[in-house]
Amino acid sequence: MNIYITLDYEIYFGENHGTVDKCILYPTSELIRIAEKHDVRFCFFVDCGFILKLDEYRKQFPQLEKDYTAITDQIKYLSHSGHDVQLHIHPHWEDSYYNGERWIIDVRRYKLIDFNEPEIEAIVTKYKKVLTDLTGKEIFTYRAGGWCLQPFRKLKKAFQKNNITVDSSVFRKGFYVSENYSYDFRNAPDKDIYQFEDEPEIENTNGYFTEVPISSIRNSPLFFWKLFLLGRKNPYLHKPLGDGRAMPAPGQRKKMLTQYTDCTVCVDGYNAHLLDRAVRKLKKKKFDNMVVIGHPKALSRYSIQKLEEFVEKNKMKHNFTTYSKMFQKNK
Ligand SMILES: [Zn+2]
Repeated sequence: MNIYITLDYEIYFGENHGTVDKCILYPTSELIRIAEKHDVRFCFFVDCGFILKLDEYRKQFPQLEKDYTAITDQIKYLSHSGHDVQLHIHPHWEDSYYNGERWIIDVRRYKLIDFNEPEIEAIVTKYKKVLTDLTGKEIFTYRAGGWCLQPFRKLKKAFQKNNITVDSSVFRKGFYVSENYSYDFRNAPDKDIYQFEDEPEIENTNGYFTEVPISSIRNSPLFFWKLFLLGRKNPYLHKPLGDGRAMPAPGQRKKMLTQYTDCTVCVDGYNAHLLDRAVRKLKKKKFDNMVVIGHPKALSRYSIQKLEEFVEKNKMKHNFTTYSKMFQKNK
């Protein structure tokens, strides 16, 4: 099976956004360590809007100059050492600014579809260019910020113009609508790869785009209770390494603690202990691809340990791969 370990490379977007050191640089250096020790490569979906904002303010604020240099150096290092660097868009950076002490993050336009079509095209083009300039490589895979990419019809033209041909945002049965978020993958095909044209949850065998969905798994409420209790009992092992807080997602926690939830296969925190179970489940379905999502900011010491065990155990049995290795035509 092809296993994609994918990481959304970003700070937090809540009121406490955390620091670049703890949310991004340190946890990513741990991922680099694992990758090099076991000779596997991972996929990083980089929040380009943040890099643009750092660039905009760095001449004014020395701390941001430091953040900018450290992040862009790490991204170049990742790309040069064979990790995938691909496009992650959080367009709320368009409306956010630095006040001299912290980022004032305005998430009223959190989704790309909250913008009009010419704005969308400008954002996709500008954000993609950040990565092309940093890596010198082809950028063709997308992961939507907060999984919000519907209705995709509104984004389609901008993606085609920018040669973004692969998406890896859908997770089957995922569904959430709130003030900021909106995604509905309840009807997505039970497949590990398919083509689509207008909407990523609707297969179209002749479609222009390839969907490589994030693998999904059903979690019991017990799992989430354990997660919260473990976090309280042993924060050293289970506390996220990132030092910020996620933006609010009303109702999500209560739902997870009271009913079965379909979730992404994920390497964040306690979720990492489900990796083996997920492989067994996907093998039973005869799937060839497993996409695991994670965030450097949400990794814990526990999840880093679990990920390393998982890689060690599976590196000979499975193919840890990247979108570039699998889909790039002119390589
Ligand atoms: Zn994100």
